[in-house]
Amino acid sequence: MPFSFLSHLECSRTGARFDADAVSGTSPEGAPLLARYDLERVRGAVTPGDIAARPPDLWRYHEVLPVRSPEHVVTLGEGMTPLLPMRNYGGRAGVPRLLMKDEGLIPTGSFKARGAAVGVSRAAELGVRGIAMPTNGNAGAAWALYAARAGLAGLIAMPADAPPITMKECQVSGADLYRVDGLIGDAGKLVAAAVPERNGYQEVSTLKEPYRLEGKKTMGYEIAEQLGWRVPDVILYPTGGGVGIIGIYKAILEMQELGWLGPKLPRLVAVQATGCAPIVDAFERGARESVPPADARTVAFGITVPKALGDFLVLDAVYATEGTAVAVTDEELLDAQRELARLEGAFICPEGAACFAALGKLRESNWLGEEDEVVVLNTGAGIKYPETVDLDAPLLARTEPIPSD
Ligand SMILES: *Cc1c(COP(=O)(O)O)cnc(C)c1O
Repeated sequence: MPFSFLSHLECSRTGARFDADAVSGTSPEGAPLLARYDLERVRGAVTPGDIAARPPDLWRYHEVLPVRSPEHVVTLGEGMTPLLPMRNYGGRAGVPRLLMKDEGLIPTGSFKARGAAVGVSRAAELGVRGIAMPTNGNAGAAWALYAARAGLAGLIAMPADAPPITMKECQVSGADLYRVDGLIGDAGKLVAAAVPERNGYQEVSTLKEPYRLEGKKTMGYEIAEQLGWRVPDVILYPTGGGVGIIGIYKAILEMQELGWLGPKLPRLVAVQATGCAPIVDAFERGARESVPPADARTVAFGITVPKALGDFLVLDAVYATEGTAVAVTDEELLDAQRELARLEGAFICPEGAACFAALGKLRESNWLGEEDEVVVLNTGAGIKYPETVDLDAPLLARTEPIPSD
């Protein structure tokens, strides 16, 4: 029985088919390539019951992942993160059936590890020697560390004001790290110019190679499996390049075709920060593509993406599931971060906190109902962003003497 049922790559704009066993970037039109599988045969090869008996990591879905041989799997134990009830926060927000999928518990502290595990494994399997990418921090950190485990070189460029821990993760992994005075697009130009000069390197920017998406789609498989092979009513996702939301939607369609899920779709919500909200802006105009904002700035660094290559795929997923797109301010998301730690003991990343802030807005407008079962993706650990907590804030800074209570 094959380990993977990968059949071909497909252009996300034209549907044209391409060989999956060559190192691949985008389609000739410059659009993302989607990995396709022989799902008819997967259906006969494996059942949800078989999967239940496998180790608790994302490789339990290997038939619908692109790595052909188990020897090429590069893993640090990623996947099967907890799906936790958030009763206190949900109760206050008027959404009692609130769940958080906590990706802060994954290697490298962000869900970028999923894309890196699968992307690096497949790149190494296809003979790539080095990976190169622009990043807002977490993706570079994850790819640099997984590349080190796979014995690949790493070339990472990121804005100089990206979270310092993510630079340190690149540094400690032995990758070449470049700090760029500008945004992720500027880092992208640097990488695009460097890659042709380096033998055996592949550019692995967001959606410019097909396999990061496959790693991230496993969040969709896990949510369905953890709920007993069904989907929730709503999923909120902090959207930058959009790989997670595109991946979750792809996973749901695959599971429907496999007969593992019924016809119900969760309403998918793209959450952004008002300082950089091109997807929300496009949604509000009813558009199918986004226009980059003139200025882009938010403390939720991972979602500072002015122009996503896959914007049309994010918007397709939102429209097709009768979802929505909503933006919150930095102040709102930092408040939500604090509230979540106080009410639930969960110190989450600012990107994940944006979704919790959005939850309140969507409930107030009645877009969310009290009976809705809602899953929020917390995409990373709060401890990667110590600068989001101000020790000098009046309620936090305490000095002696300690008063009695
Ligand atoms: C990258 C990142 C995001 C956004 O992910 P996309 O797949 O680019 O939309 C959200 N949260 C965190 C913590 C990230 O690092």
